[in-house]
Amino acid sequence: MTEELRKEILRDVSKCSFCGFCEWVCPTLKVMNDRVYGARGRINTIMILLRDGGRSRKGIDGIFSCLLCGACSTQCPAGIDIREDIRKFRSYILRGF
Ligand code: SF4
Ligand code: SF4
Repeated sequence: MTEELRKEILRDVSKCSFCGFCEWVCPTLKVMNDRVYGARGRINTIMILLRDGGRSRKGIDGIFSCLLCGACSTQCPAGIDIREDIRKFRSYILRGF
């Protein structure tokens, strides 16, 4: 189940072209002024951790500081449901990777 979830999330985030269209609507990026706390940064964190393993304390902090507001998901030209991927990734982390 955990491996299935990993593949499911990775399949979706791998569509990201890092265009950045999702960033301008992200409220936490505006407050923190650090891309790790923005939508694109979170997708990047998910991709790195799922592909390469390892743990980034700041990256994980970025994941859990997301408000799950969904503003980013409406902006993505690749159709990535960023909010849902972040929510799933939290669940994946809490299962112990
Ligand atoms: S809008 Fe979509 S494709 Fe562009 S950086 Fe954000 S998640 Fe990636
Ligand atoms: S769901 Fe998270 S990443 Fe997306 S805009 Fe809201 S706070 Fe930012």
